[in-house]
Amino acid sequence: MSRLIIATRNKGKLSEFIELLGKWPFEIIDISKYPNIKICEDGSTFEQNAIIKAKTVANATGFPALGDDSGLEVKALNGEPGIYSARYAGPCATDEDNIKKLLQKMKNVLPDQRQARFVCSLALAFPDNRVYVEHGFLEGQILLEARGTGGFGYDPVFLVPSLKKTLAEVLPEQKNRISHRAMAIQKMKAHLHLICQ
Ligand code: IMP
Repeated sequence: MSRLIIATRNKGKLSEFIELLGKWPFEIIDISKYPNIKICEDGSTFEQNAIIKAKTVANATGFPALGDDSGLEVKALNGEPGIYSARYAGPCATDEDNIKKLLQKMKNVLPDQRQARFVCSLALAFPDNRVYVEHGFLEGQILLEARGTGGFGYDPVFLVPSLKKTLAEVLPEQKNRISHRAMAIQKMKAHLHLICQ
């Protein structure tokens, strides 16, 4: 069976990819099987970082690899935390630390000025250097405080207006129908069949 390596060590992302890609006829391998691969994520855009992750892993393993670089862009903060979403509150920050910093920075932002979006850039890289890139987005608002226990990252403070719920209050399958990651995978379907050839 063909293989796809998911180039992420983020457990939240990984479980979403396993769910989103579960029906495809290839084996999904998680990068934890390759502890020695070092990824130098030094791009200046989501797209550049997704390509770096996918290419590094495809070259090191000899298998097709999927890189995800994603994060939150807040309008009132001029797009922060952006590509620094995972380490907004510092290099070893937890999700709780990052949320705390975000809510603190937004404490004076009025309710109708709290628009934000999640961005996901995906890169599918092959060992022969072919790379395919797709993007997905989810629009929402940042709440004044966290709500819900599901998901990961900024999900508890990200309200999806049409659902009147945060991403941490919906079931995983519901998040996987609307998320920025799901939208990017939807577009990537045009290229995923190449893995099986
Ligand atoms: P990356 O691993 O460098 O791409 O960092 C991604 C970071 O963006 C995560 O650690 C989260 O803080 C945030 N993020 C990305 N996608 C999501 C999501 O689906 N929900 C909540 N936070 C997310």
